[in-house]
Amino acid sequence: MKNIILLLLSLTILSCGSNKKININEDSVKNEFANEIKAEDLKEHLYIFASDILEGRKTGEKGQKMAANYLTAYYKNLGLKSPKGDNEYLQIIPKEFFNGKSKAASENVVAYIEGSEKPDEFIIISAHYDHLGKKGEEVYNGADDDGSGTTAVMEIAQAFQKAKKDGYGPKRSILFLHLTGEEEGLFGSKYYTSHPLFPLANTITNLNIDMVGRIDKKHKNKPEYVYIIGADKLSSELHSISEDVNKKYTQLKLDYTYNDEKDPNRFYYRSDHYNFAKNNIPVIFYFNGTHEDYHKITDTPDKINYDILAKRTQLVFYTAWEIANRDNRLVVDKGNVE
Ligand SMILES: [Zn+2]
Repeated sequence: MKNIILLLLSLTILSCGSNKKININEDSVKNEFANEIKAEDLKEHLYIFASDILEGRKTGEKGQKMAANYLTAYYKNLGLKSPKGDNEYLQIIPKEFFNGKSKAASENVVAYIEGSEKPDEFIIISAHYDHLGKKGEEVYNGADDDGSGTTAVMEIAQAFQKAKKDGYGPKRSILFLHLTGEEEGLFGSKYYTSHPLFPLANTITNLNIDMVGRIDKKHKNKPEYVYIIGADKLSSELHSISEDVNKKYTQLKLDYTYNDEKDPNRFYYRSDHYNFAKNNIPVIFYFNGTHEDYHKITDTPDKINYDILAKRTQLVFYTAWEIANRDNRLVVDKGNVE
């Protein structure tokens, strides 16, 4: 019903011939799908994904395989395509690739939505889904690291799929990439970028989400923030899209502290997006900063701020929407990283 109203509205506006009003209408369409990203859905997924049943999702072990099954069932159910055209949604990485850091072969989980106008240009939205496993009976749940990013990617996929079903599918293709082996040394992204499922030359950006469900000490009293890392390193356009979209739709404080080349943490070089940046693909790394439960058994789903997680997820969605649907391909205008 809502769509019929929107359609009628846009026809009326078109007949008035005002560009400004058409833009307002496009915004309301976009907002409708962004609102598909809900705190309660993120919470529901994360309580399962970070539960003891998944045993801390250690690369190559039972818990990680169960997590992969959870993701593949989800994409099957949503009706997304598998890049290989099969029903598996898995990119299998041989055991040898992990240099002794995995007991067995492991898997990236991959699903995509084909673009309606430029299907050969790709946006990759990623998060790693592996974590540290368990020590004795103690499970490292990894709710923030990176259950939060994992559920964010799932919700973004759902919002884009809903848009597609309603006739507003993205013009460019979007690959939803759940990476394994991050905690052991960024192996999933290393493997993907050396064995890409779609040409890297046609991969126009990587939006990587790793830890977005918590509030760090610095922002205790102003929790509406997210750290943005890498956006301006290869493409000034990506940086300004991210800024504009946030100003218009999500109004988070974008904190660039960790984007500073002089920052000793060097986070730009430390998560999966860097393997894309190395290939001259512009990236944004979304991050909430570190906290006292980082890499501890206390990184549990009850400590996540689900409203903030939803808002940060919506920022990634709006940014991806803009890059996927704008007329021009994102321009790489800055130096390559070594
Ligand atoms: Zn992580």
